[in-house]
Amino acid sequence: MKTKLSRRNFIQTLTAIGSAGAALASSSCQESSKPVSTAQVASINTAGLASSPLPYSTMSSNSIDPRKVLLWEQTRKEVREALQRGDIKAAIVPTGSTEQHNEHLVLGTDVASATLLSEQTALRLYPQVIVSTPCPVGWAPYHMARKGTLTLSKETFRAFVFEVIESLIAHGIKTILVCNGHGGNHHILKQALPEWRKKLGITLDAISYSEAYKDEELATFLTSYKLRLEGKYDNIAEQTADSHASEHETSIALAAYPERVRSVSMKDYDDAKLNYESGMTPKVWEYMKPFDSQRTTNPENARDRARQHQALLGTAEKGKKLIEISATYLSKKLQKMIHATEKGLTWPTKT
Ligand SMILES: [Zn+2]
Repeated sequence: MKTKLSRRNFIQTLTAIGSAGAALASSSCQESSKPVSTAQVASINTAGLASSPLPYSTMSSNSIDPRKVLLWEQTRKEVREALQRGDIKAAIVPTGSTEQHNEHLVLGTDVASATLLSEQTALRLYPQVIVSTPCPVGWAPYHMARKGTLTLSKETFRAFVFEVIESLIAHGIKTILVCNGHGGNHHILKQALPEWRKKLGITLDAISYSEAYKDEELATFLTSYKLRLEGKYDNIAEQTADSHASEHETSIALAAYPERVRSVSMKDYDDAKLNYESGMTPKVWEYMKPFDSQRTTNPENARDRARQHQALLGTAEKGKKLIEISATYLSKKLQKMIHATEKGLTWPTKT
């Protein structure tokens, strides 16, 4: 583990993750269960960040203070001068969700991961990229039966993102990447892109950070992907091996912000006797109806338990690899976008 001091005296520390990893790994799982060791988690100890109302990562890929790439951490003077110098060539708009992530991950997991990947991408291209204030709520009506989930309509979500993009353009930014961290937003953004590009006339793209991943590559270090590819999972486990609240997302959280991972064992899970039907008040049913017409046969309870089980496989080491793959992918893509803007090419370019 490298230890170095940044110019802002950030101290790279090995951060204890408390009992979260230990308890997550303590109940039965497909892998040999051993607690996530404190040595697996590295973070930048940034005094004061924890009190912020907005999500921050505590990771840095280099010695640059992560706050340097976050728009809402700049003064108007700093932004003005960076624009005058021509430093800022592009912006990233993170989009997330505030939604249930099983028993162990915080509701803001998706906005946190979208912001993290945006920040890690911007750090790789420093000082060319600024990360805008994220969209913290997305389209997630199908999670409403679990307490705490918030959702926007598709129209409101689209309008939020579009108007943030318009604001950035007004300040002279001509290359904008929307970095999405929530599955429900993915198609809404992709479908909006052609019209937005036509209206705005800038280099614009929207990419879910998970687009960087290929199943075969993830199967080399994520157990749930490996078991799925080998056909060793039943139908329910197969459906839940993807990111939502399982091994994948839990690993990212353990690597970047372990304090957002709670201590939950399968015994805790089973003792809670969860039944998502019980959250189905008439008001909630209005949200759920389009996704759950077969209410009595919906396997969501089984899927939820499978996700909880797969979360036990998460480690900070796996999360670091996932973050590296995605931030590398996004920074290459954004570099190409900046190049297209500078050459006056229409995005997406043919090559
Ligand atoms: Zn998520």
